[in-house]
Amino acid sequence: MIDLHTHTTASDGGLSPSDLVSRASAAGLTVLSVTDHDTLAACGPAAAACAAAGIEFVPGIEITAVRDERDVHTLGYFVDAASPGLARFLAHQRQTRIDRLREMIVRLARFGIELDADRILQPARDDDTKSAGRPWIARALVAGGHVKTWNEAFERWLGRGAAAFVPRSGASPDDVIARIHATGGLASVAHPGPLGRDEWLPGLVDAGLDAVEAYHTDHDPAATARYLALADRLGIAVTGGSDYHADPSHGAALGGVTLPRDAYEKLKSRVRSA
Ligand SMILES: [Zn+2]
Ligand SMILES: [Zn+2]
Repeated sequence: MIDLHTHTTASDGGLSPSDLVSRASAAGLTVLSVTDHDTLAACGPAAAACAAAGIEFVPGIEITAVRDERDVHTLGYFVDAASPGLARFLAHQRQTRIDRLREMIVRLARFGIELDADRILQPARDDDTKSAGRPWIARALVAGGHVKTWNEAFERWLGRGAAAFVPRSGASPDDVIARIHATGGLASVAHPGPLGRDEWLPGLVDAGLDAVEAYHTDHDPAATARYLALADRLGIAVTGGSDYHADPSHGAALGGVTLPRDAYEKLKSRVRSA
């Protein structure tokens, strides 16, 4: 069984890399990729644990690209987890995220809501595996008594179109694909079903996209069939996995969605020999 989409505590997953690998081993996985959001921090420990458990490990990442204010989750596989260029790019992505939140805090101040930006954003500086996000500001708004609930924080202040909302900016999918290629990796668009922008895929293939995630927890059999056919037509490979987070509200069970062996071999055959 092959699962190429999982998360650990290095991003928003619930298990450490070694606990994830123990779980993978118990579930009978033979190939595993860890694809944390915008960080490669789990790849080293997960690779070591996989080697000990006899599981083939694929170094991976899920990078958030942005196009037309939509997040385009882009998976990178067989990336060089030690690449300084990629590390610099990811650090820049983190900074962009922090700058955006700081700008929202400035806007809140214009409405008389004074929050301590340094304190709210400090965890992202202390620990570079932590990705700052709007929930951090929402928490501070609730704690400061400015709103009663998390939902109210988003509705009045932080949600799209709300008073302090700042649109996300970030690297384009084309740029992210190029960064992944620069480390010898392969790029795949994650969960294209929920993304709902199939019309973007041919252009991304022109930009070098290697694959599309046909098998995913949020795809029903019809969606999977659609992406298998689309990948075939576009001449690209397919990827797949559970998007396991060790969180019942998010993603399937580990190995709950898998990539067939022949599809995996086809993907692997695209890795350029450096
Ligand atoms: Zn995703
Ligand atoms: Zn994911």
